[in-house]
Amino acid sequence: MYTFPEEGEKISFKDGKWITPNKPIVLYIEGDGIGPEITQASIKVINKAVEKSYGSSKEIKWVEVYAGDKAQNLIGDRFPKETRDALMKYRVVLKGPLQTPIGKGWKSVNVEMRLMLDLYANIRPVKYIKGIESPLKNPEKVDLIIFRENTDDLYRGIEYPFDSNEAKKIREFLRNELNVNIEDDTGIGIKVISKYKTERIARMAFKYAIENKRRKVTIMHKGNVMKYTEGSFMNWAYEVAQNEFREKTITENEINQGKDPSDKIIINDRIADNMFQQIITRPEDYDIILAPNVDGDYISDAAGALIGNIGLLGGANVGDDAGMFEAIHGTAPKYAGKNVANPTGIIKGGELMLRFMGWTEAADLIEKAINTAIEEKKVTQDIARFLGVKALGTKEFASELVNII
Ligand code: NAD
Repeated sequence: MYTFPEEGEKISFKDGKWITPNKPIVLYIEGDGIGPEITQASIKVINKAVEKSYGSSKEIKWVEVYAGDKAQNLIGDRFPKETRDALMKYRVVLKGPLQTPIGKGWKSVNVEMRLMLDLYANIRPVKYIKGIESPLKNPEKVDLIIFRENTDDLYRGIEYPFDSNEAKKIREFLRNELNVNIEDDTGIGIKVISKYKTERIARMAFKYAIENKRRKVTIMHKGNVMKYTEGSFMNWAYEVAQNEFREKTITENEINQGKDPSDKIIINDRIADNMFQQIITRPEDYDIILAPNVDGDYISDAAGALIGNIGLLGGANVGDDAGMFEAIHGTAPKYAGKNVANPTGIIKGGELMLRFMGWTEAADLIEKAINTAIEEKKVTQDIARFLGVKALGTKEFASELVNII
């Protein structure tokens, strides 16, 4: 069904490290709604940045695979076997948004993809872009990356309605075996946080901080109340820093005791509720935030709001041997097919992909081009209306980025 270019090669992985050939095969899924327009725009921009950085010595060999509406129309399945097979083999994908109905209908293709490739880290950089209206007084101080654990915690979905047999059994067990009395009208959800899953996300965050020369990793948790889940998350994360990255990291406590941080990465922790006010009142004090699944979900959106516009944010779902890169927004159906959507989110997703591939020069070019275009007020309608300037279409904005690069 799909043809893979002969001169292209698979990206491979060793001990969580990406090994990127000069002509890597990267899959893309156009997505639903505004997906096709923004995905095509992002591929143009990424290709130009790669060409400018490396001439003909490096080139992404893109292969389209189908999911969502397009797959349903062409193959009669929203997430066909051919696409799953290609993802399992080639492991790296740039993905447009896919629609999922709420409370009914088909399963989320996004979630299936995450499980299939064990993409346990959800990574979302949030950095202010000059010229964008933000609710903060000093938004230029916002430069955060959230590392959210993606596979554990309350979102494992171990939950039962209050009147189910399962909930009844659990209540009885707690009453009879552990002497814990829960009222009979209580629904039950189980919070689970494992050592293994905490260690692997912590390891990824610390590695990323070291390799990308960041300055600090803050562990977010509500361990004062949820001691053996979120409290353990904090303890296990500190242990990973201590046992595996001792030379490169220093804790806030050690600094308070007078140790010299020099060029080490500072590790500290903050209680979840405090974390929310901290990123609003003192964003400059935070850099990478490492969070369990539920906290990470909430803080990601709060952090996104600090820079004022969700159309501008990209994200990654990454495991030890695979990565899926996307915009954080959805399919924006009211703008579909109108050449008005802002493609910056998925372009930022692509920028992040290039960083994981080790193609930093190309990633930097993309970041700079976006900043320049916005500073020069060359923007799509979602931003243009706040700036009182004429809007560029999706395609024209992408061409502007290509010209700047
Ligand atoms: P949405 O992100 O699609 O839209 C929220 C608001 O932001 C809307 O007003 C929309 O018009 C605007 N917007 C979003 N992206 C924009 C862009 N690039 N340019 C200009 N304006 C933009 O969120 P929603 O309406 O809650 O969800 C719509 C669909 O998207 C749902 O089916 C949902 O399941 C899906 N979704 C998919 C993903 C994903 O694939 N990762 C993420 C979120 C939502």
